[in-house]
Amino acid sequence: MKESHKTFDIAVFAGDGIGPEITPPCLEILKLACQKTGDVELNFIDVPAGAALYRDTGTSFPDESKRIAKDADAILLSCMGLPSVRYEDGTEVSPQIDLRMELGLYAGVRPVRLVPGLDLPLASEKAKDIDLVLIRESTEGLFASHGKGSVENDAIAKDTMVITRSVSERLFDFAFKLASHRKENGSEGKVTCVDKANVFQSFAFFRKVFDEQSKLAPSIIADHSYVDAMALNLVRHPWHFDVLVTENMFGDILSDLGAALMGGMGMAPSADIGDDHAVFQPCHGSAPDIVGEGKANPTAMFLSAAMMLDWLGQNHQMASLSLAANLIRDAVDNAFADGQLTPFELGGTAGTEAITSAVINQLKN
Ligand code: ATP
Repeated sequence: MKESHKTFDIAVFAGDGIGPEITPPCLEILKLACQKTGDVELNFIDVPAGAALYRDTGTSFPDESKRIAKDADAILLSCMGLPSVRYEDGTEVSPQIDLRMELGLYAGVRPVRLVPGLDLPLASEKAKDIDLVLIRESTEGLFASHGKGSVENDAIAKDTMVITRSVSERLFDFAFKLASHRKENGSEGKVTCVDKANVFQSFAFFRKVFDEQSKLAPSIIADHSYVDAMALNLVRHPWHFDVLVTENMFGDILSDLGAALMGGMGMAPSADIGDDHAVFQPCHGSAPDIVGEGKANPTAMFLSAAMMLDWLGQNHQMASLSLAANLIRDAVDNAFADGQLTPFELGGTAGTEAITSAVINQLKN
């Protein structure tokens, strides 16, 4: 049966730093992929928020922007924050964190997969087989203290970590379902809970809820690792892992390690998914050190956009969206495949324009 034509509203945060440089190419690629598969149109709505907006207007995340984001079918975000623009308490402006909290986007999904053609980050040939997904809880953990920490008498500073049963259960359920889905496509079917349960009550509780939840998914292997051992083993043998699930702060750190395994921040996509909303955003920040130089790698944002199409496709049961997502991933793989396109961050000379053109050429073929 032919799927009916449908228009989806996409709230687009071009953000700060390199955000406005990588966003237009990403929208072009999304449009092209959807045109090729037909049946779907994307209506992009430009939404202001971020550090530059705060500097210029005193507001980082206007109510109207929040409303547009909540009403949209999906949210696409580049990167936000500038080290030179800070709130009075010294923290960086980060509406993307507010968005995760407000929309309950508890599952931060960070796939770590190598794009063929790029130099392997590790010496072993097995590095070609790296294919894991890190799920970073994104609404609580140590980040529950965001904007609430305290400094007393310039002598003692405190931030409090929060782990709740309700978020943890949904997080682990998400992880086990993802592992089942990946198992159907040939992965091992394993979820590793990454914590520090040997030291902290909060992590012992996190692990206890994980063990309880694992009983509901008997066909998936439930494994554990302390975070320090995981940092070691993600470098020693990352190809041993399938799905990793962890607390917010640990996930923040390990996802940069994951990005390094992929060749750099510009290669690493992500999605922050809740029960009703989702934000798709590259793992990297606003990279102020390369703003205006044309060196920003837009690939992570392209791959995040592909994850958005996958999510929309699953939610609306529209195969053409998943097809468009695959078109983007294949175009990225093919653009890099012959080893000629090396991004600046990997020591090459390919910047935003060259990478965008190469991916567009592949999409057009
Ligand atoms: P945040 O705290 O907001 O995550 P960060 O301070 O960790 O940000 P990033 O902005 O992600 O840092 O940048 C880390 C390094 O990676 C910088 O040297 C930056 O130039 C580089 N980088 C980040 N994103 C890209 C990209 N898309 N293309 C090329 N280089 C990038």
